[in-house]
Amino acid sequence: MESISVFDMLSIGVGPSSSHTLGPWRAALRWLGELKENGQFDQVEGVSVDLFGSLSLTGKGHATDIAVMLGLAGFDPVTFPIENIEREIEYINTEKKLNLNSERKITFVPAVNIVFNRSFLEFHPNGITFHATLANGKTVSESFYSIGGGFVVKEERQQEKIKMEKFAQFPFPIEKGVELLAYCKAEGKSISEIVMENEKSLRTEAEINTGLKDIWEVMLDSMYVGCHTEGTLPGGLNVTRRAFDMNRNLIGDASYSNAEEWIEAIRNTEVKFRQILKWVSCFALSVNEVNASLGRVVTAPTNGSAGVIPAVIMYYLVIENHDADFEDVKKFLLTASEIGSIFKKGATISAAMGGCQAEIGVSSSMAAGALCELSGGIPEQCLMASEIAMEHHLGLTCDPIAGLVQIPCIERNAMGAVKAINACEMALNGDPSKAKVPLDKVVATMWETAKDMTSKYKETSEGGLAVQVNISDC
Ligand code: SF4
Repeated sequence: MESISVFDMLSIGVGPSSSHTLGPWRAALRWLGELKENGQFDQVEGVSVDLFGSLSLTGKGHATDIAVMLGLAGFDPVTFPIENIEREIEYINTEKKLNLNSERKITFVPAVNIVFNRSFLEFHPNGITFHATLANGKTVSESFYSIGGGFVVKEERQQEKIKMEKFAQFPFPIEKGVELLAYCKAEGKSISEIVMENEKSLRTEAEINTGLKDIWEVMLDSMYVGCHTEGTLPGGLNVTRRAFDMNRNLIGDASYSNAEEWIEAIRNTEVKFRQILKWVSCFALSVNEVNASLGRVVTAPTNGSAGVIPAVIMYYLVIENHDADFEDVKKFLLTASEIGSIFKKGATISAAMGGCQAEIGVSSSMAAGALCELSGGIPEQCLMASEIAMEHHLGLTCDPIAGLVQIPCIERNAMGAVKAINACEMALNGDPSKAKVPLDKVVATMWETAKDMTSKYKETSEGGLAVQVNISDC
């Protein structure tokens, strides 16, 4: 049974896409590592990259080429200063040189050495093949697949096998919701407590706390930055950033100078239903505006859907419970990650496999279940909340205009967050023993729907809004 850590489901990265930016970036780094292991790195004289399927069709809009170059240059997506991206890419474009792993300068012409192929590799729609020409005249090639959420595998799934062995030590192996509920019942624990026990088999409690604090800090920072940055998003659609004005209109003339003071200032604003809707939307929009501008966000479970979970956590902190602190955030993240992993195991979190139901649908489902736990729901109600949230995202297609993670993506995060809150409230008032659709059934339904969906609606920008609306209309 594949087991997945909270730090696999929620990881710090760079926008705009976990599958098309973060995944290819990580694939490039992995490939460099393999070249080193094989003793071939020092012989590399030239490099080229083939992008296939969805990585090619929406690769330009999703900055896949940029991510590949940054990966080949050896930069870490978690720590690389995002303000340096433009300078590094400019250097490669003008000098026609790439500093492989920041160690060896090779000739590299992006327009020639990165090839966008319309064809698909058989194993997965997001295929990427790296080729290295060695000093002895030989060429070595390796293919990777970006399977969503920043996860990268090779066809033989060696990495998966290693991970599965590693995670065999989980005290509570979970593949389905029904198993999770059985553990909660038998142990008398909440979902987050069960997940914590699993995590503790991998790292110390202090390490888990530090890791989750880092994740929350990036989430909060992405909301703060997004709410305080004006202007237009890059890419040519001329999309105006909206979180800035929304935040300013909602917060009035309150004064604050950092994210923590901002939270207090929001807590002091008067909120009625309309303001709550606007705040939640504002938080979600802010993250995805940062994501669309190649900023730093947390993949949750993907970059395109990175705004849903932070927005719902903020809703809890600033609207629902003014005494909430990091302990609540921690529980939220642990619970949300487990629900996301159930979708990853039973269906997919890749839009190239399942459309937007796999991104916004899953993030909304994760947030609904986690919010339910914080709001006092029993585990059965938490999974009921997750089920309701996904049930009303089934069939949601992926059709980003111009291949950019902007329209409909940014607004979709606001809708996913609001739906999560509503699903939570319905579950809190519901009787799980009378629910007709258990979470595991909706996971299976989502996967069947994914398989029935045509490729036009799976992150190819070949259908839906992507063909109805032209970049020239914008
Ligand atoms: S439409 Fe949905 S799945 Fe597709 S890129 Fe946008 S957020 Fe991601």
